Amino acid sequence: MSRVLARCLPQRNPATAGTWRKSCLTRHSNFSTTAARRIMETTGFTENQMTVREAVSTVCAQFPNTYWQEKDQLEQDPKEFHAALAKDGWLGIALPEELGGSGLGISEATMMMQTITESGAGMAGAQSIHANVYATQPLARFGNKDQLESTIPNIISGKWRTCFGVTEPNTGLDTLRLKTIAKKQDDGSYSVTGQKIWITCAQVARKMILLARTTPLDEVKKPSEGLSMFCIDIDKEAPGLDMRKIKKMGGRAVDANEVFFDNYIISQESLIGAENQGFKIILHGMNAERCLLAGEALGLGYAALTKAAEYARERVVFQRPIGMNQGIAHPLADAYMKLEAAKLATYHAARLYDSSKTDKSIRQDAVGVAANSAKYLAAEAAFTACERAVMTHGGMGYAMEYDVERWLRECLVPRIAPVSREMIMNFISEKVLKLPRSY
Ligand SMILES: Cc1cc2nc3c(=O)[nH]c(=O)nc-3n(C[C@H](O)[C@H](O)[C@H](O)COP(=O)(O)OP(=O)(O)OC[C@H]3O[C@@H](n4cnc5c(N)ncnc54)[C@H](O)[C@@H]3O)c2cc1C
Repeated sequence: MSRVLARCLPQRNPATAGTWRKSCLTRHSNFSTTAARRIMETTGFTENQMTVREAVSTVCAQFPNTYWQEKDQLEQDPKEFHAALAKDGWLGIALPEELGGSGLGISEATMMMQTITESGAGMAGAQSIHANVYATQPLARFGNKDQLESTIPNIISGKWRTCFGVTEPNTGLDTLRLKTIAKKQDDGSYSVTGQKIWITCAQVARKMILLARTTPLDEVKKPSEGLSMFCIDIDKEAPGLDMRKIKKMGGRAVDANEVFFDNYIISQESLIGAENQGFKIILHGMNAERCLLAGEALGLGYAALTKAAEYARERVVFQRPIGMNQGIAHPLADAYMKLEAAKLATYHAARLYDSSKTDKSIRQDAVGVAANSAKYLAAEAAFTACERAVMTHGGMGYAMEYDVERWLRECLVPRIAPVSREMIMNFISEKVLKLPRSY
């Protein structure tokens, strides 16, 4: 039984569950301006998923929308939120119990990420922790003794934070041609030179999971060969490392950065798994990341739609609630159905991911198709819901205090990252429809 669930489950004793839920809702109204969210149909979820949803909601309720508005405006890291989730053990939700995690799966982690965005925290809340959840997956599987016994526990406890360093300015989605080089020195250490971009939380992270080339492109048979993964220290005082914050449209509470390496020395022990096997290792985290992103998009969409419906019920113009106009009601009903369909795709993908660990009849390419499809559908459904939520609010949709403008700015992220809509279309065209590769 996981540490987190062990704490939560006694409260879910049928004899006391009602009381607990009631006190939970009371606490929501005491601490938060965020209303309890009930739009999503929850039939068919597992007991574990529902327990995660309730318990994470309780943590999130301590961080009302006003907290997120302020953090966004002031571009301040939500460190209190990260600390609160770490304190209750949530950062290790999908890590094995023997490493100090909760031993749950990506199905529960996806529910956690959805719950976070849905609480009003939005993508900023999710991005402040999500690399700690997915980037530790390959580390847990391929890491060395020190990475397992020191790095992972420190990330779970919240003492250290991590970030994910893959994207580069000159290669973009053509990841396999990335140009950052990690060159082995005589003493076994590596010297890293190159540039990364859009690295979330690099300013506050102690570690970076880095993908770099260890064998030059012209010396390998395929571009997927010769890459290595590292878990490196971010030491801003050390020579050869510099970073610059990127001013951005949304999720301003979390930093995004250009990171510059110029003969930055990292230890031999930073390597994760075998040298030159980095691409195979990173693939392990990629499908998990897509499931989490899908969950985050869903939560954002449900939050926006809940708020839009609330406003449409209450706002009276021409002496009747605006929601009485089908021009307002139908786009919201349509947005709801799109979210519900995306929800099925998302939890189907997460279930496949988890089941594939023990059921060898589930092929990894099937997991990839499901995870990419889910990320695509959830991101599009979230965008529809957020855009319509702003329009439902009329002028007030543009005002910070109604939150929907913040969520609209943020909902573009799951459409772009970690892989764009177009590249998912390319992937499905080629892998499922067997059409000629277009790139
Ligand atoms: C807020 C935010 C946070 C991020 N956080 C991180 C992070 O923590 N770590 C990290 O490593 N990265 C991060 N990223 C980077 C993100 O993963 C990339 O931006 C994304 O993968 C797209 O890459 P690119 O920006 O280089 O786009 P490009 O590769 O330049 O593509 C630009 C456009 O061209 C289209 N395109 C390109 N090639 C084709 C083709 N063959 N067919 C059809 N269309 C094509 C793309 O779909 C896209 O629409 C983040 C990005 C954002 C915006």
